[in-house]
Amino acid sequence: MRQKARKNRRHGKRIVLTLLVLILTISAVLAVANQTVLQDFLHFNASVASMEHGWNLILVNGEYKIPKDWKVELTELSNGQSVDSRIYPDLQQMFDDMRTQGVYPVVASGYRTAKKQQELMDEKVNSFLAQGYSKSEAKSEAKKWVAGVGYSEHQTGLAVDINADGANSSGQQVYAWLADNAWKYGFILRYPEDKTEITKTDYEPWHYRYVGKEAAKEIYESGLCLEEYIGMMN
Ligand SMILES: [Zn+2]
Repeated sequence: MRQKARKNRRHGKRIVLTLLVLILTISAVLAVANQTVLQDFLHFNASVASMEHGWNLILVNGEYKIPKDWKVELTELSNGQSVDSRIYPDLQQMFDDMRTQGVYPVVASGYRTAKKQQELMDEKVNSFLAQGYSKSEAKSEAKKWVAGVGYSEHQTGLAVDINADGANSSGQQVYAWLADNAWKYGFILRYPEDKTEITKTDYEPWHYRYVGKEAAKEIYESGLCLEEYIGMMN
């Protein structure tokens, strides 16, 4: 009788031990996968952005993440910002023509590293924390304003935030000129006012995305946003 009880105890111990090892293994696997799993969960069913229509038509948004093998060769602008070298000649031409016409722009933000994008996110979260939001509230509020790491077009090097130089032009002048003319240089207004439901991003009159002259003309003339335009091609 006593022997049987001892045997049962030993058996019980073995089960507990097996369970413990199992739990530890699962936790370890989850800890490693945690970041990607959590991030992808927050971004619905995130997929990797496709380059099937060419590098200039890559679609990066809350749903499509920049591919891990995305390589960017940079050209540094005079104010320290950088852009993908492939868009530089058209950007420079556009800026030259603007200045000739009395409009004075600056690239307020061009290419961003993942680290820089994370810093912007942290800053935004902290500003909400400072306003008295809880940690989870601050995080979800910040996500409405700043794209998560890997989901910002700025990480491609193909997007630029263009503002006025602060001395010779007003923001309104710069935005109005861009809205009418940027397409001629291969740039599109990426987040139009009437497409926020589709882009899931607020209207940003300063954010321009290079797609090349052919696509920019078609997008400008059709009034489609990039999501719709790519959707039509698929
Ligand atoms: Zn931007």
